[in-house]
Amino acid sequence: MSLLFLSSLIGKAATFKFNPSGRSGVLYFHRVLDKPSDNYPDDPTIDEFDELLSVLKNTFTIVSLKELASTRQVSGGKPLLGISFDDGYRDNFTNALPVLIKHGLKATFFIASQGTEEGILWQDKIIECVRANAGGSDALYGVGGALDGLSESAKCRYLMEYLKRMKVFSRNAIIKGWEKTLGISSYPRLMLTREEIKVLSNEGHDIGGHTHNHVILSVESQQDVKNEITRNKDILEEIIGRKLDLFCYPNGHPSFDLDADIHPEMLREAGYSYAFTTLDGGIGKDSDDMLLSRFLPHRRNSHLRAWSSAKIMGEVA
Ligand SMILES: [Zn+2]
Repeated sequence: MSLLFLSSLIGKAATFKFNPSGRSGVLYFHRVLDKPSDNYPDDPTIDEFDELLSVLKNTFTIVSLKELASTRQVSGGKPLLGISFDDGYRDNFTNALPVLIKHGLKATFFIASQGTEEGILWQDKIIECVRANAGGSDALYGVGGALDGLSESAKCRYLMEYLKRMKVFSRNAIIKGWEKTLGISSYPRLMLTREEIKVLSNEGHDIGGHTHNHVILSVESQQDVKNEITRNKDILEEIIGRKLDLFCYPNGHPSFDLDADIHPEMLREAGYSYAFTTLDGGIGKDSDDMLLSRFLPHRRNSHLRAWSSAKIMGEVA
């Protein structure tokens, strides 16, 4: 029995059992890696992404997020599935794009424009600082003995959690202090360039907003959130020469990372039509346009990913 035939059977069984009403789903990725990395344990390599798309194509009808959000209909007997990437990593262009082209699929890229301008976002600055400080004292980070005995990647994860819910201003000040002590004056470019964003858009992929500094909306003042949304939208629209109408919330949990009474309306006022969270679940006719679920099945095996995708899509957020 061929693997693709097997995946088709698994997908049909999972859809029948877990997602009988055929709700749609949206996957989110961050990176497509050259080789596996402890710092990005959930992200596929190029080969894994290639295999995963083969399996997903067999199980679901893969469409753009815009088409999915506006129709939410089962197509050809299969539920709709959308593919998205968050943050704007450069390997979305170098590694993911060729695989998407090979499979004839379109994705949406949600970009935090500070990364485009500076070449790196705060979380990767942490990884670079920890790397530069290998063998040095962890007293630098000011977190007591919290990092004792941890691996380099575990230290990075701890520090990311530690800084994640701070206001941008405070977080940047702390990282600047580390850079000064470590003598770091520049970083390698990890994020998409303006030119690469333009090519993605011209290839028919959607570009979406993700705030300028990748801020958690519930952490910043309303005025700062407004500025973050419009600055990001203006920069990306200027690059691609067309309007944005898709947004995804940084970090993205609707109960902790945004205020559902304030921010969806703010996004509508800014001109967005659809906004995506990171709350597991499928998308149906009843789903709120500004609080659409997305998910990331934490499975390394493509067949299990397809199975668990069908299962999560059947859940009502
Ligand atoms: Zn993000």
